[in-house]
Amino acid sequence: MTIDIKAATRSFLAQTEEHLVSYLEACVHCGQCADACLFYRTSGDPRHTPAYKLFPLARAYRQQKWPLNWFACKITEGDLLEWEDLIFDTCTMCGRCTEVCPMGIDIASIVGQARKAWADAGLGPRDLMAAAENSRDHGSPLGLTQEKLVDRVEWLADDDEVDMPLDKPGAEVMLTVSSIEAMKYPKSLSAMAKILNHAGVNWTFSTHGYESTNFGFLAGRSDIAATMLGRIVDAAEQAGVKTVVIPECGHAYGVMRWSGANILGRPLPFEVLHITEYIARLKREGKLKLKPYADPFTYHDPCQVSRRGGAAADARYILDGFATGFKEMTPTAELNWCCGGGGGVQAMERAADLRHKAFKIKIDQVEATGTGRLVSACANCRLTMDESKTYWNWGGALESLVEIVADHLEDV
Ligand code: SF4
Ligand code: SF4
Repeated sequence: MTIDIKAATRSFLAQTEEHLVSYLEACVHCGQCADACLFYRTSGDPRHTPAYKLFPLARAYRQQKWPLNWFACKITEGDLLEWEDLIFDTCTMCGRCTEVCPMGIDIASIVGQARKAWADAGLGPRDLMAAAENSRDHGSPLGLTQEKLVDRVEWLADDDEVDMPLDKPGAEVMLTVSSIEAMKYPKSLSAMAKILNHAGVNWTFSTHGYESTNFGFLAGRSDIAATMLGRIVDAAEQAGVKTVVIPECGHAYGVMRWSGANILGRPLPFEVLHITEYIARLKREGKLKLKPYADPFTYHDPCQVSRRGGAAADARYILDGFATGFKEMTPTAELNWCCGGGGGVQAMERAADLRHKAFKIKIDQVEATGTGRLVSACANCRLTMDESKTYWNWGGALESLVEIVADHLEDV
């Protein structure tokens, strides 16, 4: 294995010019972030303390910027190898540590930036890097090629008797997909279609830009992140849509909504909404008529939608007056515990054991509600929880918020 330490150092130093430096200076080493992290909470390993993940970038910064920089140590191959599991395997970029940090340090952003240095050095988990490269080369990390998308949409439209337009001219809304949904939970696609049709929305899927997950971003591969974003942005611009809707995928939403313009270097000429935000809007506009739903369940907030996306209230608004069996878990909304698989951790085989163990936090949360059923709005959370459920032989049920809404639409 060749490790390009010069490329990694250049990458680190490029980032020390940015606002992230203020975070490196601001940490007061109070340790409050430790207990907020699902991995530290699970392992008790001091290496899993969130603040420890600042170290590689901090060392590069001191090497370059400190007045007495000749005393500062250089980043070494050993550092990169030692910290790799902390930057990739044990950080879902969930942002929970920031909620408790008295200095408001955004560890998730620093981890995201640090991943670029690992990728530039030729390091990083092989399966995560392969998922990113598959996205670039085949349109999706899970084999959802353009042909397969067309095939899936035609099959679902036929099977579920729902109109699912592809490349429809004049559409105002473009719906994107997550290949996790398309390949593992395909009914989510027809569920979105049913809801938008019910509300009379003029919408379409696009064969030119459909995959909203962005493993380039998660792997630290800026080039692939831009390619994946560019496909959707180009498709939306050519179609002239006003709104791009991100499906049940948290990171896909965060990348497009909050980082998209910066990655591409220009404003996005359309609004970006997560599907829960969009459904809540339809309800506010009186376009969503739902039959009552009384089954007991609790709601798992996807970190990138509720905590980092600020859209926790929209899921509750959808459920309000409709789902009478809904019961909050504790803690919830912005302080909810991560499923363990965000930030690409779900795709890393070597990270599976610890993330499965971390899921016990979620099981205990659900059990405490007495509902035994977990509903969420992220296919990556759903896949993570499905696998961890098997690991623990847990009997709780897992469902999709969008599918439940679609199953309870009133006839119009
Ligand atoms: S972002 Fe989440 S997983 Fe990463 S260090 Fe903070 S709490 Fe832990
Ligand atoms: S809570 Fe914030 S200030 Fe305290 S150790 Fe963690 S990152 Fe540093």
